[in-house]
Amino acid sequence: MSLASSKQPTHPSFPRLFAPLDLGFTQLDNRILMGSMHTGLEELGPSGFERMAAYYAERARGGVGMIITGGNAPNQSAALAPGEYGAFDSDAHVPLHRRVTDAVHEASPNCKLCLQILHAGNLAHSADPVAPSPIASPINPREPRGMTAEDIETTIEDFARCATRAQAAGYDGVEIIGSAGYLLSTFLLEKTNQRQDEWGGSYENRMRFPLEVVRRTREAVGENFIVVYRIAAMEMMADGSSWDEVVTLAREIERAGATIMSTHFVWHQAQVPTIATRVPRAAFTSVTGRLRRELSIPLITSNRINMPEVAEAVLERGDADITSMGRPMLADPEFANKAFEGRVDEINTCIACNQACLDHAFRGRTVTCLVNPRACHETELVYTPTTNPGRIAVVGAGPAGLAFATTAASRGHDVTLFEASEELGGHFNLAMRIPGKEEFRETIRYYQRQLELTGVTVKLGARTTAKQLLDGAWDHVVVATGLHARTPDIPGIEHPMVMSYSQAIRGERELGKCVAIIGAGGIGFDVAELASHAGVSAALDRDVFAREWGVDFANHPRGGVAGVEPRPQTADRAVFLLQRKPTPPGRGLGPTTGWAHKLALKRRGVHMLRGVHYERIDDHGLQIVVDDEAQLIPADTIVVCAGQESDRGLFDELSGHHDSVHLIGGADVAVEIDAKRAIDQASRLAAAL
Ligand code: NAP
Ligand code: SF4
Repeated sequence: MSLASSKQPTHPSFPRLFAPLDLGFTQLDNRILMGSMHTGLEELGPSGFERMAAYYAERARGGVGMIITGGNAPNQSAALAPGEYGAFDSDAHVPLHRRVTDAVHEASPNCKLCLQILHAGNLAHSADPVAPSPIASPINPREPRGMTAEDIETTIEDFARCATRAQAAGYDGVEIIGSAGYLLSTFLLEKTNQRQDEWGGSYENRMRFPLEVVRRTREAVGENFIVVYRIAAMEMMADGSSWDEVVTLAREIERAGATIMSTHFVWHQAQVPTIATRVPRAAFTSVTGRLRRELSIPLITSNRINMPEVAEAVLERGDADITSMGRPMLADPEFANKAFEGRVDEINTCIACNQACLDHAFRGRTVTCLVNPRACHETELVYTPTTNPGRIAVVGAGPAGLAFATTAASRGHDVTLFEASEELGGHFNLAMRIPGKEEFRETIRYYQRQLELTGVTVKLGARTTAKQLLDGAWDHVVVATGLHARTPDIPGIEHPMVMSYSQAIRGERELGKCVAIIGAGGIGFDVAELASHAGVSAALDRDVFAREWGVDFANHPRGGVAGVEPRPQTADRAVFLLQRKPTPPGRGLGPTTGWAHKLALKRRGVHMLRGVHYERIDDHGLQIVVDDEAQLIPADTIVVCAGQESDRGLFDELSGHHDSVHLIGGADVAVEIDAKRAIDQASRLAAAL
């Protein structure tokens, strides 16, 4: 096996990314892998498979070299989610999978499609979850049954059968996931494997199960079938694997027949963020690089690789042979083609928000993408050229207005976008100023380029009136005027120490030494992040990130974190984050990112108070009552983050006077200024007009 010495000319900008990779019996066209992402479509049954076929085919057409599907359980008790089709445990499912493989190979005959086989172990949804020992995961209260020797044998057989079914269904290979806290990885650690038989005890015994799974899978599928193994290169837990154990396992897995090794950096229960936008780009690839020096098979690396230049740099450093990008392919199915054709500025970049992908998966909803609502909805949200081009005025250039304007114009409408301020992006302009949310800038860059490409006429600093719009003889008027911050009715709210969140985030007013934040929603948490953080954003510097979360990349202690104290950079000021509700602050944050947000603030000493009654603001600070007890927060700065109200005045003025006036985004529903909802609503309206 060797890197193909390509006779093709090398790519001028991304020579490594677009170099083929020779696997001996087959070849990958390039080093871009669409990594495994659960979609929630599998569980829908036959209709879900039709949608999956369209979803993966679009990515194959978009130029990726290889795709790994979402996890498929090898038997019913192994599935992560409910639903018969989450497990590929019956030959009767082969024709359904065949629709997916045919669609992908038709879209791109060279694109390799691998089925991920995932046994969730003690994280399974099943009523009868199994694990090496009867030890529950801290994130799944259900106690698993300890596997008998017979269970172990049957399960190994189930993996092998699942792989041969995948082969029969036309997949080019399988990925066996041996990380993240799923079954195979729980065999490896002493804390989850307390068996006394040949499957537990010494490390040699603890790795026997994953090795047998790989060996028997290889035996079942023969030589000419890709077998990827996903290894826990770092669990981000102090009782994780030592580096020697990782290397020992990896070498044995290679010997057992894996074609490619893929590295994973976390167990789901760990308390280090590895995929959120607060994680620096390509933060973990050096770990893959170190393992790569120990093996002779190709290695895949992943996590926060979201632009082609990032992937190219990873390959150039010698950290990996293949770069895996799961979420970036949701955000832009044409990622690879755009990179190849020198259209990098047209890429719709994954901003690692998790809001529509992993948060949906976590909540059992079909996955999609905040910046691309077509993801997993390819069969029903279709942008076809319009047969009835019209003149459309769009008012407001926040995410809703931008998504509508560019989509409608791409369909052939003549669109003019009016924005009262001098900048595009609405609330995204605030988000990108929060440490850890710098990626949001990419979405504005994307829309800016799309406005040019689709020929939208942009009028900045243009506050339009209803009269001007009515006089303009537009065929359609789309109002995306957004919202304005709510001013709570608290005595003293006009005090000079009080400022809006916009003033605080834009740096228009300076924060003092004691900051009280009124409102602990998404924006309150963001302002607390801004106020409590010091120095360079951890998202922009891997060393700062490593110190903040206690990861030792240089020495690789057990799990990557053993014996390392998190040392966040903390601002020299007191920060209080307040809410009236009695529920724990941060309840409304995304399930896959909110915990890290809360933990980061806690470690920086932010005081979070709930059940707060605001008495008044005066020269002494903020007077509050909590649990019937009067308290004074000696604030010198009060930032109001008490939600928003819709700006729908323009819409009300137009309604009844124009035949086709539409309201979208925050102007429509203020309680959720959520960009996910805004972009989805705008895109659907643009597809329909
Ligand atoms: P929000 O989430 O609705 O939070 C508003 C906060 O203000 C709540 O904590 C509320 O809590 C408090 N509040 C409401 N009315 C009040 C009043 N009259 N007086 C005092 N406090 C009041 O709004 P947001 O923080 O502005 O965020 C808006 C949206 O932006 C979110 O829904 C989210 O979609 C999006 N966003 C999300 C993130 C994220 O991390 N996912 C980040 C930023 C923004 P009490 O009523 O309990 O006091
Ligand atoms: Fe990336 Fe956010 Fe889209 Fe998920 S929802 S793919 S994290 S941009």
